Amino acid sequence: MNTMTDAAALAAAAPAELAPSLTLRDELIAAGLLIDTGENGLYGRSQIFEDVVDRLNVAITHLGADQDAEVLRFPPAMRRTDFEDSEYLKSFPNLAGTIHSFCGNDMGHQRLLRALDDAMTAGDDERSDEWMAQQKPTRVVLTPAACYPIYPVMARRGPLPAGGRTIDVLSYCFRHEPSLDPGRMQMFRQREYVRLGSPDQVMAFRQMWIERGSLLIDLLQLPVEVDLANDPFFGRGGKIVADSQRAQALKFELLIPIADPRGKTACLSFNYHMDHFGAIWKIACDDSTVAHTGCVGFGMERITLALFRHHGLDVNAWPDDVRALLWGDTEARVAHGLDETKAQRAGEHV
Ligand code: ZN
Repeated sequence: MNTMTDAAALAAAAPAELAPSLTLRDELIAAGLLIDTGENGLYGRSQIFEDVVDRLNVAITHLGADQDAEVLRFPPAMRRTDFEDSEYLKSFPNLAGTIHSFCGNDMGHQRLLRALDDAMTAGDDERSDEWMAQQKPTRVVLTPAACYPIYPVMARRGPLPAGGRTIDVLSYCFRHEPSLDPGRMQMFRQREYVRLGSPDQVMAFRQMWIERGSLLIDLLQLPVEVDLANDPFFGRGGKIVADSQRAQALKFELLIPIADPRGKTACLSFNYHMDHFGAIWKIACDDSTVAHTGCVGFGMERITLALFRHHGLDVNAWPDDVRALLWGDTEARVAHGLDETKAQRAGEHV
């Protein structure tokens, strides 16, 4: 895909006010921060982009230093049966990514190669995918959200300890929603803290992380707005599920303007799953009640993009305090911010 042609085509097709959304993407690619693969929503990242992601990760680690979180890292794939159990396909069948592989014999291989030969005579966008008829589903699927792989793992450990558990995860995630908006990638990283425990423990955790997430965005000098949100549930029943998610205030998002001219982009989310995952995988609290779960998710690419959008493409020209936070004494600055938040809260209660 030629970026300019594609951009021009969309600008021509879209109302005039949508056209500016292309600017940031084009600028990021021109500056080499994102590398165009030719596929919407699938990018390479430059050293500078990754450096910002890494430093954000360090800041988030300091933000959660007192959480006694267990650090777990999984590859960006999970067991298909666990994925089926999660009920993700009920809500987001359109976003899921499954992994297929050739599992045939020599004859199947010949059929695959013949179909591929035929396909290769056409241009990229007109190619037949007939060769894929030889592909079969594997036992793994792409991870849809960073916290998904941990629930079955926690269940296998037996009942939670009295204080519950807090897990720190980071993973590339996949969502099939090709878009020209760089804030909507098909593969992106989520850093999460996940809480498993009683409803009170999970609710307190979420409230605390709404404050801490807002603090991080404040320290990054980005415009911050917390909003009640709902997921884009699929299908005719989707609106009802979304309305109920909203009514029960299960999801909050921290919104920052990035590249979408129609609105702000959710860069952090604060989710309360109630006993959904606890019931599916039979995760028990120490008193044998079903565990509740919740998570805070940091959209690593989205926060990074927001920094480039608001502070410019040259990281050396970012505001002094933002540079000091990311490239200076991150730990002390985060600790200071946490102290101030605590003092503020104490003041409000006087
Ligand atoms: Zn999560």
